[in-house]
Amino acid sequence: MTTPLAAAQAAYDELAALGLKLNLQRGQPSDADFDLSDALLTAVTPGETTMDGVDLRNYPGGVAGLPSARALFGRYLGLDAANVVVWNNSSLELQALVLGFALLHGLPGSTGGWVHDRPKIVVTTPGYDRHFLMLTTLGFELISVGMEPDGPDVAAIEAAAADPAVRGVLFVPTYSNPGGETISAEKAARLAEMVTAAADFTIFADDAYRVHHLGQPDAAVNFVELCAAAGHPDRAFAFGSTSKITFASGGLGFVGTSAANVAWLSRLLSAQSIGPNKVEQARHVRFLAGYPGGLDGLMRAHAALIAPKFAAVDEVLSTELGTDGSYATWTTPRGGYFSSLFTTAPVAARVVELADAAGVSLTPAGATYPGGVDPDNRNIRLAPTRPPLDEVRTAMTVAAACVRLATEEYRAR
Ligand code: PMP
Repeated sequence: MTTPLAAAQAAYDELAALGLKLNLQRGQPSDADFDLSDALLTAVTPGETTMDGVDLRNYPGGVAGLPSARALFGRYLGLDAANVVVWNNSSLELQALVLGFALLHGLPGSTGGWVHDRPKIVVTTPGYDRHFLMLTTLGFELISVGMEPDGPDVAAIEAAAADPAVRGVLFVPTYSNPGGETISAEKAARLAEMVTAAADFTIFADDAYRVHHLGQPDAAVNFVELCAAAGHPDRAFAFGSTSKITFASGGLGFVGTSAANVAWLSRLLSAQSIGPNKVEQARHVRFLAGYPGGLDGLMRAHAALIAPKFAAVDEVLSTELGTDGSYATWTTPRGGYFSSLFTTAPVAARVVELADAAGVSLTPAGATYPGGVDPDNRNIRLAPTRPPLDEVRTAMTVAAACVRLATEEYRAR
C-alpha cells in the first residue's frame, strides 16, 4: 500500500524531473506592466522643459517638489498638495531619510534626537523584509506585533506604546506586504487616538499599494486626517511610490504629512539637496495626465494583467492542497503584490528548499520576520506578478507538491 509520504514523494519527483527554472520570489512588475508606462520615456521633450512656471533643467523650484507633482500624489494620498513632499526614485529611501532625521534631530514635537533614547519601533509580522533591514540598520530595536485580516494587532501596539522608548510604528496600511491585508477604519481610528507614553509617537504608514486594487477597491484610510481630527496633528507620515505604477526604481517616492512636518522635512532636506529631480516629476505628471483614465486607468490596466495571476495562485493551491487547512492556508489579497502562505506543520524552510531543488525559487523562509527568523517556520511569501501566467500556474503546482511532501515528511517523523 502506498503511504501518503510515498505518494507525495512520487508526485514531487515527477515535477522535479521536468528541469524547471522558475522564479516566484521577486515582488516585481512584469515586462507587460512596464510596457504600459513606456510613454513616460518621451513625456518630456525638447522645447517643453518648463512646468508650473519652473525651468525643469535648472536648480530653482524648491525642495518639496513641483507643485503639479505634489498635487498629483496628494490625490493619491487623499491630501492637499501643501501636505506632500515629492522626492526622488525610492520611497524606501524617503522613509529612511525621515527616520534618520528623527534619530538625529527629533520630530517637531520631540525634545531631541531619538538616537539618545535607544529607540524602539513597532513592526507587523509577517511583514516586509526591507522595512526590518532599514530599521535595524538605523539602530531601532524592533517590537513585532501580528498582522490580522483587518490590520495590525492594535491592542499589542497600544501596550507597546506604554513604553516611552517606543517612538512609532511602521507598517503597510493598504494591501500589506506580504498578506494583502487592509487596516479597518476602526483600527486606524484607534491608532490615531491612542494614548502613548512618548509625546512624539509617530505612525509611519508605508502606503505603497494604496491604489493597487485587483477588483473592488478596499477603502484606504487617511492617517494624516485621522490624526489631525484626533488632536495629534503631527502623528502621521504616509508614504507612497510609483515603483509598481510606472517603473521600479525609475519613478518617484513621496510622503504626505502635517504642515509642520512638511516644513520640518523641507528644512532638513534642503540642508543636503537643492531639490529633487524635477524632470522625473514632470514626466510623471505629463504621462499620467495623458494616460486614458489617468492614474486610475493605468491601475486598471495593471489589474487586468495581475489579477489572473492571483486567481491562479488561489485556484492551484485549492486544487492541490484542498481548502480544509490540513496542509496550508493562504491569503487571497484584494490588491497589492503578494500573498502569504502558512504551512500547517512547521515546514516552511523545507518547502522552500524542496522547491529550489525542483527549479522553483520561492522567497526565503523567514524573510517576512525581523532577522530573517520565522519563530513558527510556517510563513512563505508568494510573489506571482513577475512571471507569465502559465509559469505562475506551474510554479504553484510545484510549490503545492513541496508543501505536501514536507508535511508528510514531518508527519512520518
Ligand atoms: N514599500 C513596500 C511595502 C514595498 O513592498 C516596496 C516594494 N517592494 C517598497 C516600499 C519599495 O518602494 P520604492 O521602490 O519606492 O523604494
